[in-house]
Parts: sequence; C-alpha cells; structure tokens
Amino acid sequence: MSTGAPVIRFEGIRKSFGPVDAVAGVDLDIAEGEFFSLLGPSGCGKTTLLRMLAGLEDPSAGRIRIGGNDVTDVPPFARPVNMMFQSYALFPHMSVADNVAFGLKQEGRPSAEIKTRVAEMLDLVQLGEFGKRRPHQLSGGQRQRVALARCLVKHPRVVLLDEPLAALDRKLREQTQFELVRIQKQVGITFVMVTHDQEEAMAMSTRIAVMNKGRVLQVGRPHDIYEYPANRFVADFIGEANMFEGVAEGEGLRVADLECPLALEKPLAAGTSVVVMVRPEKIAMSRDGDGAGANRFAGEVAEIGYHGGVSSYRVRVGAERLVRVTSANRRHHTEPAVERGDRVVLSWHPANAVVLP
Ligand code: ATP
Repeated sequence: MSTGAPVIRFEGIRKSFGPVDAVAGVDLDIAEGEFFSLLGPSGCGKTTLLRMLAGLEDPSAGRIRIGGNDVTDVPPFARPVNMMFQSYALFPHMSVADNVAFGLKQEGRPSAEIKTRVAEMLDLVQLGEFGKRRPHQLSGGQRQRVALARCLVKHPRVVLLDEPLAALDRKLREQTQFELVRIQKQVGITFVMVTHDQEEAMAMSTRIAVMNKGRVLQVGRPHDIYEYPANRFVADFIGEANMFEGVAEGEGLRVADLECPLALEKPLAAGTSVVVMVRPEKIAMSRDGDGAGANRFAGEVAEIGYHGGVSSYRVRVGAERLVRVTSANRRHHTEPAVERGDRVVLSWHPANAVVLP
C-alpha cells in the first residue's frame, strides 16, 4: 500500500557478522515521501539494515537501490541520504547556526546561500532565535531539532533516523513525535526510522516493517499491523494481545481451558489448529448478564491498573487463564466501576478477533 513510486528498494539483502545472520534476506520497497519505520526487538537487525542503506555497512548479499540507481557499491558520502544519529553528534564548540551550516560549507556553497538555507531550516525546526547559542545551552529536544536541521539542510532524498527520540523524556518525546511528523510532511522528504518503541512507530509512520531475527515479518500501515497482525510474533510485539490456542470444531474453536467454544467469524475446517487473538480494548466487561455463550465468559477481576484515562484489568477465566481487558474511563466516577474480586462477564464480537496460523 505504497503512496508513490519506490524510492528505496532492498533486494535479497543479507548481512552476516561471522556466524551471526544480522539480516537474513530482506526484500522491501519504501515509497517516495513515506515516513517508514523499521521496528523490532533488540538484535533483530533493524540498525544493520539502516546502516547498509546509509552505506556504513556492506551487505553480504543483495542489492540496494535509491531512486532507481543501484547504490550497493556507492560510498556513504555519495549516496543521496543523510543520517541523524542517536547521539545527535553536534559540534560542541560551534554555534547552532554553524552546526547546521557545516555540510553546506564543506560543499563550498556561496555564503549568501548558506545563510538563507540555514535560516530557513532553523525556522522550520522552530529554532530561529537560537542560531547563536552553543549546543550545551539547549535542551535535549532542541538539540535533536538542530541535528534534524543539519540533516535536512543538504536536501537529501532520504533521511535516516536511528532511535531519534531515545534521549528525550516521555512528555518531550510525544511532542517531538508530532513535531518530526510535521516537519517531514512539510519538506516531503522520505524518512526511514529505526525504533524498538512500537507506540512511537505507530504514532509517526505511514508504514512499518516489523522485524525479528533478521527478517521482515510484516509490512503495513500502523492500523493494518495492529488490527490484522500476520502472525503471533507481530500480534504480541505490537500492543497487547490475548491468545487463545484451540482446534476448530463445528462453527467454533475448542480451547482446552474454556467452558464454551469461541465463536469464529468464518468457520474453519474441523481439526485445524489455530490461535485466536483478541485485543484487550475489544473485550466488553460487565457485571451483569449470563456468563456462558458464544464468546461470553464469566470471570473474576484479579488485578486492576488505573492509568487515569484508561484502566487495565486482568480477569481470571477458568483456573489459570488471565484475560487482559482495557476500558476507557469515560465518566467522572468517585468510585471505581469494577473492583478486584468482582464477578464479571467478558464478551466480544467474533469480527473483533483475528485468527492466526
Ligand atoms: P538494537 O535495538 O539493540 O540496536 P538492532 O535490531 O538494531 O538492535 P542490530 O544492531 O542490527 O540489531 O544487530 C543485529 C545482530 O547483529 C545482533 O545480534 C548484533 O549483536 C549483531 N551485530 C551487529 N553489529 C555487529 C558487528 N559489527 N559485529 C558483530 N555482530 C554485530
């Protein structure tokens, strides 16, 4: 579901470090103007893939194309990409403006042009007033924006971001997420970001590649990946998931520790083993009603986590199983609606469950 022609193409890309297959065969297209994220747990190979795109690492096999040109053997400085590092790597002894101007000076651009472009970039990242300061006189978020301005000022075709928000505290991270997306839209340059933070990837990206063990397991829009994960790993890694393993029987799924079968939206061939995944917010919880029927289960509230806007519950169903439920605290209660130890009934519509192989 690309938004345009591919600007980046990975073809059968592999990278081994001795016995370790850091990247174990990746084919991937990234479209012009996308905000694309490589997402996965530590060690999944996402940084190695980004570094190969930057030219900082040579692939063991495969080709990389940027804008239709094979750049696999092109050195980093000659690729139309610019990388923003986690540490920002600003020059401490230079002013903010000189930091941003550095690349243009190296290219030998005329000073009038440099001045205009630096001023434009500082305005874009809302640091127009800060040109004369040194990096140590800025906050972490402001330093991050200087690094971004320095990246963008050379008008690269692609900007690469390695965990760009890792150094920021939570509140600032959120603000900066919106800020980065705004800037990216405004300049229209393709961004490729590496992150292990799924919420960050979801909030910022046009599309995400979820990686594990050197492979891409799913590529899609944040919504597709969250609502329709292709496999168990993606379902678990993105958001929270309740998993029900069972065997198809009649119209539903028999799950060993549940009294009633799970209703399925589409019946499966009898005897098929599958996992059904249901997100916690898709489950309705009430204190009234029958506790048996298709996708209706009685349980007892074992744990409650109050997060202000939402509460999360662990509901014991049967002897062992804890079902996760989240619900928005829409009303202004003084007393919680449900308490630990309450008997409740959980239910969900079969359309809200996802059948995984
Ligand atoms: P993190 O989020 O922790 O940075 P990552 O997904 O970015 O992880 P990579 O840095 O790409 O993972 O590493 C993938 C695998 O390759 C890991 O097992 C790592 O130890 C290994 N690896 C990476 N760089 C090298 C190297 N220069 N030499 C040897 N092994 C390496």
